[in-house]
Amino acid sequence: MDLKNVQHLEITRHPYESGKERNGGDYWFWYQYSRENRGDKFEVRYGTSSEFTFCRVKGSFEKLGCSDCPDYDGKECHAPPVLVSEEELAETLDNLDEQEEITDAALFSEVVV
Ligand SMILES: [Zn+2]
Repeated sequence: MDLKNVQHLEITRHPYESGKERNGGDYWFWYQYSRENRGDKFEVRYGTSSEFTFCRVKGSFEKLGCSDCPDYDGKECHAPPVLVSEEELAETLDNLDEQEEITDAALFSEVVV
């Protein structure tokens, strides 16, 4: 997949079986990649179906939610976003396993000059 014109890309990781998506240890995960300022890096945001406290910026389960994050200001998590390069994302896409699929990919609609 040529990522040159991709602005946004989302990968969904499916659970292995249903019924465990909230607290059973087998969760949905979402990885949302947004191109940063139209440069060659993508900023990552994470999501999960788990009801346990989770950091969307770091993509990790935290005992106290984002209050565990070093950059939590009491309201929001300001942990530094995870950035991946176009090549790294391309490699991720080449190595998707059977539980993972691309669920959304938005392309630039206008020509950038
Ligand atoms: Zn956080």
